[in-house]
Amino acid sequence: MGLIVQKFGGSSVADAEGMKRVANRIVAAKRDGNQVVVVVSAMGDTTDELIDLANAVTPIPQGRELDMLLTAGERISMALLAMAINNLGFEALSFTGSQAGVITYSVHGKARSIDVTPGRIREAIDSGAIAIVAGFQGISQDTKDVTTLGRGGSDTTAVALAAALDADVCEIYTDVDGVFSADPRAVPAARKLKTVTYDEMLELAASGAKVLHLRCVEYARRYNLPIHVRSSFSTNEGTWVVKDHPEGGAMEQAIISGIAHDKSEAKITIVGVPDRTGVAARIFQAIADADINIDMIVQNVSAAATGLTDISFTLPKAEGAAATAILQKLQGEVGFASIQYDDQIGKLSLVGAGMRSHPGVTATFFGALSDAGVNIEMISTSEIRISIICRQADLERGAKAAHTAFELDADQNEAVVYGGTGR
Ligand code: ASP
Ligand code: MG
Repeated sequence: MGLIVQKFGGSSVADAEGMKRVANRIVAAKRDGNQVVVVVSAMGDTTDELIDLANAVTPIPQGRELDMLLTAGERISMALLAMAINNLGFEALSFTGSQAGVITYSVHGKARSIDVTPGRIREAIDSGAIAIVAGFQGISQDTKDVTTLGRGGSDTTAVALAAALDADVCEIYTDVDGVFSADPRAVPAARKLKTVTYDEMLELAASGAKVLHLRCVEYARRYNLPIHVRSSFSTNEGTWVVKDHPEGGAMEQAIISGIAHDKSEAKITIVGVPDRTGVAARIFQAIADADINIDMIVQNVSAAATGLTDISFTLPKAEGAAATAILQKLQGEVGFASIQYDDQIGKLSLVGAGMRSHPGVTATFFGALSDAGVNIEMISTSEIRISIICRQADLERGAKAAHTAFELDADQNEAVVYGGTGR
């Protein structure tokens, strides 16, 4: 018996039936003698619908007002869920992010949560109630305005609250049974992972796996808080996100834990860049000044005859127009020939702590891609990850081929997608 923080995503509370199902789940944990704090997301695709609505009244919604609008989605969920729990004869109290003490910086749309002071939540659970908290939102320390934590931010609310309350576990309920060796929507043979380490999960989340919000994993790692990712539609044991794979598991531990794919990036190539000291610094400083995050970079050896080289880098598609505009302004000063923009790329990443101690991972990976007819355009690696860029049209074929090559395919279909529209 202890303190559990449970988080339910939008697909788990998509309608009244979902609310009631989740309420039963919560009450069961309470009946087992636990103190229960629940973080809830907006119902179904509400957040996307609210964004569409904002864009229908103005092309550029103001950050402050957009945050005010979007946070309404989670408030609807929290109140309905509290009512559903009350209806089962249990006391439940709902709280907005600000009431729950989620304090952030004042950047709208992607505020970083800096501090959680959950005094009222502690009071509520100590009095025997179940506390329901609106995910994804906080209040800015300086402006006192309502802020949001970025898309998918309810996971982060849950883990931050769990850390502040010193909870025993944070359970993240979603529409699949846990973290899979690949996205089951693209690789049907994906298998459920029993455990995944914080480091692996961080790499997977940063490489496009959508199951957990990146910031939430950073938080969990910092506080060494175990996360149990599982489905609200089944009672199956899910995936534990922990510091290390369990003892003795090392032998059976696969070299590759998971494969992630990402279609959200674009590639910019700057053609004919003079090969001079300071040129790359000048280019990337200008990009950084605009707060644009880049991912992979490739620079070729300059051609001896011309002294010119090409530099390619990838970045989120959403920042593509801004980056291109910045580079165009720089063209005269730096003196490169042209800029090419390509948004038809895909990124495929293999992640696994086992790759530290196993040679040949790259060879197997590239062999599988070549057999599948997938051409590699860029490569980047970390200690436990290899990523490549290829044509977007080849991405899912490459993911399936790599999954098979590393013997990750499940014998029978393990990956049930219970809900969600994949929006
Ligand atoms: N409702 C928000 C979103 O859709 C936050 C979340 O679901 O975690 O991004
Ligand atoms: Mg959502």
